[in-house]
Amino acid sequence: MKTRIMNKDLSMEVLRDGLTARDVLTNKVNSGGRDDKDDAFFVCDLGDVVNKYKKWVSCLPVWSLSTLSSATTAPMSYRYWPTWGLASTVLARLTEVQKVLNLGVGPDRIVYANPCKQTSHIRYAKKNEVNLMTFDNEDELHKIKNYFPDACLLLRILPPAAEAQCQLGMKFGCHPSQAPKLLEVAAQLDLNVVGVSFHVGSGCLEASAFARGVESAKRIFNIADQYGFDFDMLDIGGGFPGQESAAISFDEIVADLGPALDEHFPPGSGVRIIAEPGRFFVASAFTVAVNIVAKRMVARDIQEFKDDEAEDAVMNSVAPSLCEEPAFMYYVNDGVYGSFNCLLYDHAAVTPTLMRDVDKEEPLFSTSVWGPTCDGLDRIMEHCLLPELQVGDWILFEDMGAYTMAAASTFNGFGKPSCYYVADANMWGSNNHAFIQSAGSAHRHVKDSAITLPAMKRGLCALERLGITQIPSVA
Ligand code: PLP
Repeated sequence: MKTRIMNKDLSMEVLRDGLTARDVLTNKVNSGGRDDKDDAFFVCDLGDVVNKYKKWVSCLPVWSLSTLSSATTAPMSYRYWPTWGLASTVLARLTEVQKVLNLGVGPDRIVYANPCKQTSHIRYAKKNEVNLMTFDNEDELHKIKNYFPDACLLLRILPPAAEAQCQLGMKFGCHPSQAPKLLEVAAQLDLNVVGVSFHVGSGCLEASAFARGVESAKRIFNIADQYGFDFDMLDIGGGFPGQESAAISFDEIVADLGPALDEHFPPGSGVRIIAEPGRFFVASAFTVAVNIVAKRMVARDIQEFKDDEAEDAVMNSVAPSLCEEPAFMYYVNDGVYGSFNCLLYDHAAVTPTLMRDVDKEEPLFSTSVWGPTCDGLDRIMEHCLLPELQVGDWILFEDMGAYTMAAASTFNGFGKPSCYYVADANMWGSNNHAFIQSAGSAHRHVKDSAITLPAMKRGLCALERLGITQIPSVA
């Protein structure tokens, strides 16, 4: 059973009686109850986002959590963040500042986290009292002096090198050895630097990188007073994994990061710790369903020949025997110019799942999956093994919430998939008491993992500090 909640611009289905997001996907595909019956679509399980939030606050002692609105443009996934007490939002562009202010987030809860800002955007930040922003170079300091001299500044440093899905260090962050010079210039300009930020790289592949970043930041804190600054804020950035298949787990990060924060920035230090997790919150909440709009059977072995060899094979009648095991090319209605831009921009890997049951005995064929546009680059899977599928069949791709629809284009006139939001009724309506209890039980379920009781206690304190009173009720 499900209840449809609607407001003026969005709708959501509240799931009851054990109905799951996967059931909703299946129903949408089978019932044909949609106007756009064969268009690709997303289903977003908002309960998954809530769970991530619970997980975070029960593990890390952050004073405030920012969330990168660029990671997803799906409005329902971030519209309740202010209500949950997600105290600030990291923004790269003016439109994101506007979007988050419009959601009712106070300007004092926003970090303008692009270290290289357009001057009109700095002026907009000043006008709207978005005071906290990052910098990593001398020219930016002069710009800020000219357009927003009272801003509170975080010096973004390059954390020690770490492997990551998307490196950010080649673009942003000053080398720690440059920090004294930048602090000197900031002091000369009479600017207000309040702390340090870093980002270990999006989709970080090394759990220890976060703790190493904290140690680097601490070294900058240690010299700040030489330049007349009294730092009281540390921003540990993003980079946290968003899905179970990620190379490192959130628990592994917490096992290193928690003690590093306790050691270098203990609660009594007066330093407020903020974070900017993006993919962590949204990656696993979204599944996209794509429809096979066209199919081509090819002789696998001929595909593997070079062009002239293939032609020879056909001419010499070798081809028929090579055709015995065919390969298939499927053309689906979302691709790398749409949600699957993550393959290019986010260096993501995606895995197809079939909607229909697969018989164990069914033969598997070499398969490639292509997007709908006219460009040869528009390929989702170069090679995978799938049973033979038909035009009209559906393929699912899970963990598609981060850096997918946010950067999708409408190239060639193909629209972006619509998104259906669902949430489990229990998840959605629970109050603070239940919230804390479930954080407790989540802790018990992972008692063999790296999360310790002190970490749990820190999390509960963090909840109190965040002033959480209730998970949003949409009823
Ligand atoms: N903060 C900043 C400044 C970023 O540039 C990004 C992503 O690019 C994030 C936070 C979010 O990173 P992630 O999605 O890896 O958590």
